[in-house]
Amino acid sequence: MAELDVLIKARRVITAAGEVARSIGVRDGMVTAVEPLEADLEAAEVVELGDDEVLLPGLVDSHVHVNDPGRTEWEGFESATRAAAAGGVTTIIDMPLNSVPPTTDVAALRTKWRTAQGQVYVDVGFWGGAVPGNLRDLRGLHDAGVFGFKCFLLHSGVDEFRHLEPGELVDALWEIGSFDALMIVHAEDPHVIEHAPAAHGAGYGDFLRSRPREAENRAIAQVIELARRTGCRVHILHLSSSDALPMIRSARRDGVRLTVETCPHYLTFSAEEIAEGATQFKCCPPIREAANRELLWQGLADGTIDCVVSDHSPCTPELKRFDIGDFGVAWGGIASLQLGLPAVWTEARRRGHALADVVRWMAERPAEQAGLSRKGRIATGYQADFCVFAPDQVFVVEKERLHHRNPVTPYHGRPLAGVVRGSWLRGVPIDIDSPPRGRLLNRGGA
Ligand SMILES: [Zn+2]
Repeated sequence: MAELDVLIKARRVITAAGEVARSIGVRDGMVTAVEPLEADLEAAEVVELGDDEVLLPGLVDSHVHVNDPGRTEWEGFESATRAAAAGGVTTIIDMPLNSVPPTTDVAALRTKWRTAQGQVYVDVGFWGGAVPGNLRDLRGLHDAGVFGFKCFLLHSGVDEFRHLEPGELVDALWEIGSFDALMIVHAEDPHVIEHAPAAHGAGYGDFLRSRPREAENRAIAQVIELARRTGCRVHILHLSSSDALPMIRSARRDGVRLTVETCPHYLTFSAEEIAEGATQFKCCPPIREAANRELLWQGLADGTIDCVVSDHSPCTPELKRFDIGDFGVAWGGIASLQLGLPAVWTEARRRGHALADVVRWMAERPAEQAGLSRKGRIATGYQADFCVFAPDQVFVVEKERLHHRNPVTPYHGRPLAGVVRGSWLRGVPIDIDSPPRGRLLNRGGA
């Protein structure tokens, strides 16, 4: 009997040692051997990658809004996880809002589980929500397996997921810190935004002025201060304002337990190039100027920013209000789950980064940050989740060919470098035309 289920031979594999030629042995869904390419290992099946292909660990996207149940017409588990698989993402963690019910107590988490069961092509975990009045539900959600808790400091965009006032935030941080869980924060300050001019009309500049950098800067300063005071682990979601990078750096130097993510759209687009009425680019915090984008790239390069995750937040085309193109009334959210890897790689290689850097930002660090100790790397003892990537093949994004539910994305028409040729989950290629094999994850369970 063969010792391995599969042996994958690839001239280019991204491992902890960087990019190397390796034979990867898989048994029972786990990587059990990482050997030189020519190593003679017995396996039931041998797969050889093409000369233009690189084996990456399956990506981990810790910021996805699946919206199911309740707003399934925006997105659902089946369509979202199909898009993930087609984009090389083998694990997603679902955000607690935009579904109904939001994931703010154990009963709602169980509803999510029932809805997702049997529908997922990749592995799926869940964030819980910290909202006014659910302080006593947080421990139960933690024990039931959520990966941490999300909160907003201003209106979330949906009325059923309310934001925390400063006093409530302090209470939630003490509570969550008492069992050493993670708080993830949408950091924009409501008072700064109240005093900014309101967004209206088709001009992107007006929308940008309605969500100024100062709103993010002030909220992040507040979150850092409270993380310092309570000792709670805190993660800043979707950083857009590069102004906040110096204070993040210095807080970390001081030992504040703080991690930070940004998103492919902040690293790709710039405010200057967004056309009148192009509300597919609307998200909060907003895409800012090209000079800001370059500073975010520097923050990634020097390690201040840990992760790049999608913040895939789709809706129906009607809610983007393309009929009037009004940035004030259109839904804020960008759909990009399938495109994160080529989008980031296209911009990264232009700036001299290697694929190993992209893997660190999009697989290794998001897995660590979520406590997924057997995902995000190709190494013995890790799950055999892979992405087969052709980094030099160029394609033009066609929204109709994406798998997420509604064909809306700001990447439509954009040429990108890097084609995902396949994704593997626990040692088996994912076939999005067959019944799904993904699992629902508990924190600490994978
Ligand atoms: Zn989000």
